[in-house]
Amino acid sequence: MWGIRWRERQTIKAVHERDLEKVLEDLGLLEHVKSGKAKCDICGDPVDLDTLLCIFPIEDRIGLCCDKPECYQRVLLVNEE
Ligand SMILES: [Zn+2]
Repeated sequence: MWGIRWRERQTIKAVHERDLEKVLEDLGLLEHVKSGKAKCDICGDPVDLDTLLCIFPIEDRIGLCCDKPECYQRVLLVNEE
């Protein structure tokens, strides 16, 4: 069961990555992420295109979230508030 869930997640992530790059470019964040200076807004670790899982709004800017499950959970919780 876990194996199936993991494969599904990987597939979703692969689709996300292509969309994410386009979205980052539109937001003017693509160079920032590619430069290696971007950080996960949840845990503070550096993120690049490989480890960036999603973006989310924080106040008046865009936050970045790495691919750690605990960070993604935090993003989901924040967005539900
Ligand atoms: Zn993180």
